[in-house]
Amino acid sequence: MDEQVKYKRILLKLSGEALAGDKKTGVYAEVIGNICDKIKEVVELGVEVAIVVGGGNFWRGKYGHEMERTTSDYMGMLATIMNGLALQDCLEARGIPTRLQTSIEMREIAEPFIKRKAIKHLEKGRIVIFAGGIGEPYFTTDTAGALRAAEIEADVILVAKTIDAVYSADPKIDKSAVRYDEITYLDILNQDLKVMDSTATSLCRDNKIPLVVFGISEPENIVKIIKGEKIGTLVKE
Ligand code: UDP
Repeated sequence: MDEQVKYKRILLKLSGEALAGDKKTGVYAEVIGNICDKIKEVVELGVEVAIVVGGGNFWRGKYGHEMERTTSDYMGMLATIMNGLALQDCLEARGIPTRLQTSIEMREIAEPFIKRKAIKHLEKGRIVIFAGGIGEPYFTTDTAGALRAAEIEADVILVAKTIDAVYSADPKIDKSAVRYDEITYLDILNQDLKVMDSTATSLCRDNKIPLVVFGISEPENIVKIIKGEKIGTLVKE
């Protein structure tokens, strides 16, 4: 592993929106391509990379309206698998070996999630993309990120956001919002800050997994964080 690297094994949480850029929906070649270029740089530094991808660019569980909640949530999980395929395609086009693992079995297109296999892939320098969330309704892909990070013993979760850090309020609405360089899990929970949902935040807290919350509009941030630069907000105990 390269000496300039701060973390050996990372879990990158990409929301669906991160792949859509300004368009908010769908997947855009330039947007996903720029992110994958940076992921490639990180892999070339000798870092083991796992990715949990969301699905909000295709389907939001919140659209529930008349639809039964669990049906809507399963549609959300399927959306994350579409994004997983897009990421796999984009990374492999750049010569990086990947494996897509889903929490809902789809053997024709992906491996089922098997922790030991995932770790083996990572050790062999393959990127493992986890899609399908945790495979259960009423959860989010943030929780999947926290859970998979704990299972694969990731050193950190990089939480890619459309905003560049954690703030006390939405800086677009509240001009007095304070930007945090560091914050604790408990502060996030107590102040109900919109970083990750409370289930995911608690899971990270219980398992002492640090988070770096950063802006994905500059994909170079991924490389900078790996090299130890202070970017975004560090969440820890
Ligand atoms: N979802 C779910 N269980 C999971 C993960 C996701 O039910 O374990 C559903 C849920 O409806 C969610 C949607 O899939 O709203 C898309 O995931 P998420 O909102 O976390 O994606 P992101 O906001 O990261 O794009």
